[in-house]
Amino acid sequence: MELRIPGPTPVPPEVLQAGAQPMINHRGKEFAEIIQRVTARLQKFFCTKNDLYVLTCSGTGAMEATIVNTLSPGDKVLAVTIGEFGERFTDIAKAFGAEIIPLKYEHGLPADPDDIRKAVRSQSGIKAVMITHNETSTGVTNDIQAIGAVVRELGVLFLVDSVSGIGSLPYPVDEWGGDVVATASQKGWMAPPGLAMVSISAKGWEAHAAAKMPRSYWDFSAAKSYLARNQTPWTPAVSVLYSLDKGLEMMEQEGLDQVHARHARVGALVRDGVRALGMKLLVKDERYASNTVTAVWPPEGVDANKLVQAVRAENDIELAGGQGSLAGKIFRVGHLGWVTEADVQKVIDSLRVVLPKLGYKVPAAAGR
Ligand SMILES: *Cc1c(COP(=O)(O)O)cnc(C)c1O
Repeated sequence: MELRIPGPTPVPPEVLQAGAQPMINHRGKEFAEIIQRVTARLQKFFCTKNDLYVLTCSGTGAMEATIVNTLSPGDKVLAVTIGEFGERFTDIAKAFGAEIIPLKYEHGLPADPDDIRKAVRSQSGIKAVMITHNETSTGVTNDIQAIGAVVRELGVLFLVDSVSGIGSLPYPVDEWGGDVVATASQKGWMAPPGLAMVSISAKGWEAHAAAKMPRSYWDFSAAKSYLARNQTPWTPAVSVLYSLDKGLEMMEQEGLDQVHARHARVGALVRDGVRALGMKLLVKDERYASNTVTAVWPPEGVDANKLVQAVRAENDIELAGGQGSLAGKIFRVGHLGWVTEADVQKVIDSLRVVLPKLGYKVPAAAGR
């Protein structure tokens, strides 16, 4: 089975093996070395000097941690939504009592920095802008650099779900801004699911000091005091940490810019391939196309779920369907983490074989 979904993503054999090492005392010397090394490596990939914590949870846990560590019930937040994961971020903030000021975009569109400026200025007291860097449900990447500049100018908190972005896509946090930036091990980091990573800025810490939302497991103060001793407050997913460490070592060997460049090449190959097959991308303006996940409208008359099933049956490749209101309407190709041009070429080749079997005539010489 070849996984071409946007997480969990395939894991190199070396990383799997690393995860099979014996357990150690998470209060001991060996653990201290690993957590120190992993944290420092992640800070390099985040291009940040901010504090950074490894949490034991999936990406959604890190989203919740982001919110409960910086906000109080009743705080007004501009919740920028360009798809399902933006909705999820909003729902979590709402569940903890934030007052949501929504800024929603149609599927396929990125957020417009000018809209964010207008929305924050249009009323008093907005405390934070929450946004998804790379919207995995639509294959759209927001311009976090431009949006970060606007948020800095507005002086509000900037909370970023970069779960499927950072690590694979450029996001130098200290340069572009991001008071809390969250990601997870099973996306671009070539590791299994189970760990999430968050960076928090000085401004984020200031917000933390005043934040009143209930928190316990997620408390960044606990993470900080334990990391000072090279520990985590609670028992971490040690096996996943071994794997993450190995994955980061491999990414380091490849180099930050090279990892980003590989994702850019792979993303372009997928987009060119599906277009040559006569299909349309969900993203409306290709400048905002994600280099980690591509969302595709199947041809007229071809059922998206049947197409996903057919690719699995034909070539043992697992694609993803649509989420939320896009379920059954689109399919998605995940291309993040341990992925090469050859891997995604196989997806295009499979689609070329499978589409005619579902009654669609593929344009001549497509995808070659
Ligand atoms: C995968 C993902 C998440 C988190 O999902 P989990 O299943 O909790 O890891 C959050 N946001 C985005 C953009 C994602 O792609």
